[in-house]
Amino acid sequence: MQTNQGQNRRERNSEEVIVVGGSAAGLYAAAKVAQGGKRVRVLESMRSLEPVPRTLIVTDHFRNQLGASAHESVLNEIRRFELFTDGRSAQVALTKPDLIIERAKLIPALAREARQSGAEMSFDTRFLGLSPNANGIQVQVDSSGRQEELHAKSVVGADGAASRVARTAGWAPLVQAIVRLPKDCPVDTTRVWFVPDDTPYFYWLIPESPERGALGVIGEDGRDTARCLERFLEKRGIEPLEWQGARIPVYKRWVPVKRRLGKGNVYLVGDAAAQVKVSTVGGIVTGFRGAQAVAESILRSGRGRELLALRRELSTHWLLRRTMHHFQQKDYSRLVDLLNAATRETLSEITRDESTRLLWNVLRRQPQLVLLGLRGLLLGWNSERR
Ligand SMILES: Cc1cc2nc3c(=O)[nH]c(=O)nc-3n(C[C@H](O)[C@H](O)[C@H](O)COP(=O)(O)OP(=O)(O)OC[C@H]3O[C@@H](n4cnc5c(N)ncnc54)[C@H](O)[C@@H]3O)c2cc1C
Repeated sequence: MQTNQGQNRRERNSEEVIVVGGSAAGLYAAAKVAQGGKRVRVLESMRSLEPVPRTLIVTDHFRNQLGASAHESVLNEIRRFELFTDGRSAQVALTKPDLIIERAKLIPALAREARQSGAEMSFDTRFLGLSPNANGIQVQVDSSGRQEELHAKSVVGADGAASRVARTAGWAPLVQAIVRLPKDCPVDTTRVWFVPDDTPYFYWLIPESPERGALGVIGEDGRDTARCLERFLEKRGIEPLEWQGARIPVYKRWVPVKRRLGKGNVYLVGDAAAQVKVSTVGGIVTGFRGAQAVAESILRSGRGRELLALRRELSTHWLLRRTMHHFQQKDYSRLVDLLNAATRETLSEITRDESTRLLWNVLRRQPQLVLLGLRGLLLGWNSERR
């Protein structure tokens, strides 16, 4: 009898959606999935809901995404940008003001919304790993010092930039250490090592100053990759100064957000999937968009349009970043000079969260910016080849 009850409970639980990480992207996803009628449980490693304060700037899209619960986290509204460079300046007035929000107020509002939608929250519960089982996915957690096993049909990894869900479910991990720059390494040179025994990818060393550089590797298994990096540093006598765990993920390419695992699915949202606009490092609005898309996929609603739009958005920001990454003073001066009345009008009307539309409109109204952009891309391309 007990075995039957246990089995029934397991079967019921296997329909559950487990969200790992109770912060912005995770709580947003939890509310959306719960509103669609699924059982949702959020696992959060922190002991209670005490988010670290962080002042953030977001576009007006934030209000559309959150509705009424957005209000309580808004501290201020920004109506104008002033750009300065080399004695020049330009102003851009915003038709729809940007919002200054406080993370320590946003997270509790999102948690309340998730709970009211029916999601259950488990604090002091650290995700350890996952594996496929007969019905879906078995999830190992440390719950207040006790190891437990949970079962779910879908797992959503919303556990931030150093996502353990991404690593254990097989997404390629990226490990990076800040190191003392070796004496024989010129500050203007990036080094790449191919060591196929360690990784099918490569190691890289990017000097950030004459003293320091970032040495990283992409691997196939999280723990092994970290060990490989340690060995690599030791063998070459390179001294690690700090390990980069809690970092802002740098969007370099689209991270697929879904993986099939046995009979279940694992998804990634927010920083865990590098859903950050790399030109501005804004991750709140894009993380919500990623969470919305994943919720639609779990509930089998929508047509995947949100995901396509997000991918286009992140890629445009990546292109912008690449274009401006090697800008010199004269390029910035030219940029500010080229911001004529027509381009300023576009910048004031279209937000950074509609970057493709923004970019095309700006270029249409000020074609000389195309040449400046091409110059930026060429500078980047040449410096990468050097
Ligand atoms: C200094 C700074 C300034 C920023 N400024 C802006 C800005 O102005 N505008 C903007 O839009 N964005 C900004 N960002 C980016 C933005 O804050 C992030 O993109 C966003 O907060 C990411 O949310 P997330 O929910 O994906 O991840 P996180 O907020 O990192 O949440 C991850 C959650 O998972 C939990 N967790 C981790 N591991 C486990 C585990 N094993 N088990 C259970 N739980 C786990 C963590 O405790 C945490 O609660 C800034 C970031 C930084 C660092």
